Amino acid sequence: MEDRVVWNASKNGSFSVKSLYNILDSGGAVPFPWRIIWSPCMPTKVGFFAWEASWGKVLTQDHLKRRGWSLANRCFLCCEDEETINHILIHCPKAKVLWNLMFTMFRVNWVLQLTVKDTLLGWSDSFVDKKRGKIWRAAPLCLFWTMWKERNRIAFDNEALSIQRLKTSFVCNLSSWTKSCLDGEPHSLINFVDWLGSN
Ligand SMILES: [Zn+2]
Repeated sequence: MEDRVVWNASKNGSFSVKSLYNILDSGGAVPFPWRIIWSPCMPTKVGFFAWEASWGKVLTQDHLKRRGWSLANRCFLCCEDEETINHILIHCPKAKVLWNLMFTMFRVNWVLQLTVKDTLLGWSDSFVDKKRGKIWRAAPLCLFWTMWKERNRIAFDNEALSIQRLKTSFVCNLSSWTKSCLDGEPHSLINFVDWLGSN
């Protein structure tokens, strides 16, 4: 699709005076991506994790350091950069592999924001139809959960999935968790992936 300007404050991406008025009239409330986080398609634990990550409350190594622990902070996944929640879920090369897979499946070019919260706030679904929109909104939450599980697998069990298995785990989770939102179709994992890209 060609680039176009999208007005984030309204559902359909078009500007309206009413949506502008609603922003101005929000009483100074901090914008928060609650609509994506509390997705009816996703397990509650996944929503809670995204909620914690958006507030920067997940106990990553940078948090432990700030609490006085003396440790060499290194990302368990890439062993290159410092571990922060924004690094693990957005910028880590291993996370990038999953982001690229997701964008390829939806056939879309996307620019990620610096933080988890801003990424979710900018997660517009105006380029997809209603059914695929449900999967598109659930996809970052699924990616966050997959990355966090992998991080803990390495940190606590000293085991890591191959990149191929990490990708499979992400797609399988996304397909099985969102099944209830799709009225029974598509029927198989291959159908699911085909259907996502057939927009
Ligand atoms: Zn990393």
